[in-house]
Amino acid sequence: MRILILGGTTEASELAQLLAGDSRFDATLSMAGRTASPRPQPLPTRIGGFGGIAGLEAWLRDHAVDAVIDATHPYADQMSRHAVAACSTLSLPLASIRRKEWQRQGGDHWIEVDSAETAAGVLGQQASRVFLSLGRLELTAFAAAPQHHYIARTIDPPGDIALPPDIRFIRDRGPFDQAKELAFLAEERIAVVVSKNSGGAATYAKIAAARQLGIPVVMIARPDKPHGVALDDARAALLWLETLLAHEPAPASRRSV
Ligand code: NAP
Repeated sequence: MRILILGGTTEASELAQLLAGDSRFDATLSMAGRTASPRPQPLPTRIGGFGGIAGLEAWLRDHAVDAVIDATHPYADQMSRHAVAACSTLSLPLASIRRKEWQRQGGDHWIEVDSAETAAGVLGQQASRVFLSLGRLELTAFAAAPQHHYIARTIDPPGDIALPPDIRFIRDRGPFDQAKELAFLAEERIAVVVSKNSGGAATYAKIAAARQLGIPVVMIARPDKPHGVALDDARAALLWLETLLAHEPAPASRRSV
């Protein structure tokens, strides 16, 4: 069975591990190509956009894909929209791994906003020390609030984008642990954290550390991502694929229609 996994997440890598070497599945992992040196993967990998919905449809047809797993990040809503549209046109089964959101706990001081632009606005007029735990492309929004001192943690250098004047970069990638996040927030005298509600364990430590230190978190809300069959994790995706396989017609009849 030919599978396309739309990746760029821990869950996609976990599913790649589960499918690698399993002769029932012929899976390809697709990455957008945002990271200069992505982690090595145990499955054949393709990198770069498909060229919109039409490009994705063409790729799925050309590679005779039988099923698609959308394991993109909770904030990657365009790719998910394209997957829903292409799979619907081609009548292909689509499942989507939907990572649970972090829930506010006692002691959390979250300011929930709908975008990076709104996040920049709620930081206020008074100069603050702000930790931006965001993707490179979201940093541009903070050029509109140049009065703050920013520390941004990104996987790759920011590249040629508009940035606030007082910004320092730390290059690192998760998972992060709480003791280090506590030390970092305290040493840098961070007054406010800006984060997405990514969910999962790999990047939660900063949220727990902010709670412990009484630091507010400006939390950018998730987009409303369209999805196929909703699944919790990579293991559920494997079970879903096994169920499809059990109901799949024999190859000769399937390919002749
Ligand atoms: P997006 O806004 O949903 O997608 C923008 C375009 O990037 C898509 O239309 C598609 O181009 C291409 N693309 C996205 N994911 C792709 C994939 N897995 N394979 C091939 N092309 C892909 O997504 P994004 O926010 O730019 O995120 C890009 C990637 O980074 C995703 O794989 C996502 O899982 C990962 N990621 C995102 C975030 C985040 O906060 N957004 C955080 C961590 C990881 P075409 O239209 O040309 O096909």
